[in-house]
Amino acid sequence: MTTATQPTSKNSVDVSRSLMLIDGKLVESADRQYIDIENPATRTLIAQVPRAAEVDVDAAVRAAATAFETWKRVTPKDRGRMLLRIADAVEAETEPLARTVALETGNAIRTQARPEVKSAADVIRYYGGLTGETKGETVPLGEHVLSYTRREPLGVVAGIVPWNAPVILGTLKIAMSIAAGNTLVLKAAEDAPLGLLRIAEICNEHLPPGVLNLLTGYGEEAGAALARHPLVRKLSFTGSTDVGKLIMHAAAERIVPVSLELGGKSPAIVFPDADEQRTVDGVITGMRVTRQGQSCTAGSRIFLHRSIFDSFVSKLTATLQKLKIGDPSDEATDMGAIINRKQFDRVCGYITDGMQQKGARLVLGGLPPKEGPLAKGYFVQPTVFTDVSNDWRIAREEIFGPVMVAIPWDDERDAIRMANDSHYGLAAYVWTRDITRAITTAHAIESGWVQINQGLGQFPGQAYGGYKQSGMGREYSLEGMLDSYTQRKSVTINLQW
Ligand code: NAD
Repeated sequence: MTTATQPTSKNSVDVSRSLMLIDGKLVESADRQYIDIENPATRTLIAQVPRAAEVDVDAAVRAAATAFETWKRVTPKDRGRMLLRIADAVEAETEPLARTVALETGNAIRTQARPEVKSAADVIRYYGGLTGETKGETVPLGEHVLSYTRREPLGVVAGIVPWNAPVILGTLKIAMSIAAGNTLVLKAAEDAPLGLLRIAEICNEHLPPGVLNLLTGYGEEAGAALARHPLVRKLSFTGSTDVGKLIMHAAAERIVPVSLELGGKSPAIVFPDADEQRTVDGVITGMRVTRQGQSCTAGSRIFLHRSIFDSFVSKLTATLQKLKIGDPSDEATDMGAIINRKQFDRVCGYITDGMQQKGARLVLGGLPPKEGPLAKGYFVQPTVFTDVSNDWRIAREEIFGPVMVAIPWDDERDAIRMANDSHYGLAAYVWTRDITRAITTAHAIESGWVQINQGLGQFPGQAYGGYKQSGMGREYSLEGMLDSYTQRKSVTINLQW
């Protein structure tokens, strides 16, 4: 769970302020309180955003409810047109948006921030082209009866997103909700709201007032108030499993549908025939090392066949050592900073825990330097532990940092058993040239997404989501939008009457 710095008092700091979007207007919070936004690479204040309270949440939800009455009658074709214009406008602003995202998240511009903004434009364009697919079906009941279904929007959607890829995760919820004819109140993460605020401003130039409302605020205040608001008809949450449970409780109170995209501790299984540099590169990509491991799909548990264990680990550490860590806005940087002090301390806590485990071997990285340029920000080096038991905290809990464990296996059934021995089930990676083995392993793994011989990010069209405590519902795909953001109505007509 994220807790940002406590807000400063009213109007106390001379930094740029971004405003929230409610009912088509850029506004402060009603009581003019702010949240400080820090650059994690320098630990300096870069901006302030409004600290939304219950009253602001109420204003945003009411605006969305009012806008829905008109928006639900806008034709799918017109909704699609607006989304396509927004996609073009976001794409045209790729560079400034990428710089903002790098500044607020600490994610390197070349490896993370710029590709994230490009993906955001892609996802808006994808859903903009799909609005006409919100169609129904007819049921064959004979000549004298016409029975058909309509897909109708749900109403006001409440979206809540985290900071690790704030623009794409927020944009995804905007695109799916609006394409399906809903209105949306989206709460940005308190640590990284600036890129998403700019996206909301762009959307506002193309959408009627109230269709999209963007709030900035703390989870326990604005997020909780949004989740329990009586006019909200759907909750769509991306974040930690602990907060996901609270969101599900809030949904249960009012019986509203809920989609949850939660945490992970994903396995990468490497077979003996894959002891190659390209597998090493793929495992590093799948671990999202260049996002400092701050990804729900990070393949942080690396299960290596014993026959290649030493050779693979030495290739892995040699490759990780070559990554350039530092200023996220520098094009040469591969890997930036951890988002905030709390996460930094948390990641360091796991590294300390691993170092204290009897028998564990730290083969790369460790605690961050206390002096030198990297000590100016929340930088953590790639860290690899071997001789780890699959029962230890570093092998079981989501660290959300660049910390990997490598565990050997002899029998592939053991590899699959260890991979599945987790309450999470979001992503997984299988590395082998043997396609039969690859597919049977993929089918045996309890995860919503298995990649074979690649470690890439999500793409539009994919049914993305988790098994077990990694979530429920699917996003990114057409079916994800239809299942999660529309409801079906049956209409049955007696033609003989
Ligand atoms: P978090 O759960 O602490 O916060 C996520 C969002 O929820 C933030 O906007 C926060 O303000 C809000 N929130 C916090 N407490 C709340 C409450 N009581 N009521 C309502 N809202 C509340 O997560 P985080 O630290 O921001 O992000 C990291 C987590 O997100 C990791 O567990 C990661 O795996 C997960 N994640 C999942 C996916 C996915 O697609 N499955 C994608 C990205 C991140």
